[in-house]
Amino acid sequence: MVISPSEFLRALCDHKILFETGVDGIYGRGGSFERALLGFEGLLTTRMAPDHADLLRFPPVIPRRDMETAGYLSSFPHLAGSVFSFTGDEAEARTLGSLAKEHGDWSALQTQTEVCLTPAACYPIYPWLAAQGAVAADGRLIDVSSFCFRHEPSDDPARMQSFRMREHVKIGTQSQVEAWHSGWSERGADILRSVGLETTEAPASDPFFGRTGRMLAANQVAQGFKLERSYLIAGSRPTPVMSLNYHHDHFSHDFDLKGPGGEPIHSACVAFGLDRVALALFSAHGLDDTKWPADVRGHLGLDELP
Ligand code: 5GP
Ligand code: ZN
Repeated sequence: MVISPSEFLRALCDHKILFETGVDGIYGRGGSFERALLGFEGLLTTRMAPDHADLLRFPPVIPRRDMETAGYLSSFPHLAGSVFSFTGDEAEARTLGSLAKEHGDWSALQTQTEVCLTPAACYPIYPWLAAQGAVAADGRLIDVSSFCFRHEPSDDPARMQSFRMREHVKIGTQSQVEAWHSGWSERGADILRSVGLETTEAPASDPFFGRTGRMLAANQVAQGFKLERSYLIAGSRPTPVMSLNYHHDHFSHDFDLKGPGGEPIHSACVAFGLDRVALALFSAHGLDDTKWPADVRGHLGLDELP
C-alpha cells in the first residue's frame, strides 16, 4: 500500500518511532528508530573496515570562514544555517529575555558567531587536510560522520532539517579517485540489499540556488558528477539514501590542497543518509521492528543491541 509522506510521518509518531517537536523536519528519535540507525551504521563500519580509512570526527558546527571559503553561501544560500549569539550588556540582556519569553522578535539582539551548522559531513575535512601539508602520493581515505543541517522544513519525514550522514571521502590524483569511485555504487547497493533495501541508481544534481544554480545542476548531471541510490520510502518518488559525489578538483582550489608535486588534487565522497536508511527500513519491513525478517535483524545486529 502506498501512503503519502505525511501519512507515514503520522504512523511513525503514533508508534513512537519519531517524536514531533513543533518544527517541521526536527524530530526526536525513539528507541526502535535509533537501534535501526545504529545497527545500520555498525554494518557500514564492518563493511568499510577492509578499506582502513582514517577515522575522523568533527562536531556538527563548522568555522564560518570555512563555509565561506567552500562557496556554500553562493551555491546553497537557502540551505545554510549560521549560529548567532548574544554579546550585549545587562540592559539588552533583560530586553532579550523578556522578548524571548513572550516569543517576540529578539533577532536584533543577536550577532553572528564564528560558526555555521555543518551542511554535509565531509565539509570540515578539506580545510583540515590543507593544514596537514601536501597529500601523500597514495592519497587519503577518511571516514566521517555528523549531524548535518539544511534549512528545508517539510512534512516529509525523509526531508529533515537535521539528520545524520556517514561518509567515506577519497582524496588523491584523478586516477586514484576515479578508481575508488567506480566500485562504490555497486558496493552501496549490496550493503543496502543485505538489509532488504533494493535501490535504484540515477544521475543526480545538488539543489543549487537560482538561475545560475540550474545551469550548475545541469552541468553536474551532464558530467556524471553525482549519482544517487534511492528507495521508495513513501509517496510516489523514491528518496535518495546514498549519494556518490565526485568533486573533481573543486575543493583543491578552494582550500589550496596540493598533491606531493604541488599539483591540485581531486576528491570524491560516498554519503549514506543514516536517518533515511532507518526510515526506509521501517517502510520496507513494517513499523514493528521485532517482526522484521530474521536475516535483516541479524545484519543490523538488532538482537545484540540493548
Ligand atoms: P547530499 O549531500 O548528497 O545531498 O546528501 C547526502 C545524503 O544525505 C543523501 O544521500 C541522503 O541520504 C542524505 N540526506 C540529504 N538530504 C537529507 C534530508 O533532508 N533528510 C535526511 N534525513 N537525509 C538527507
Ligand atoms: Zn561529502
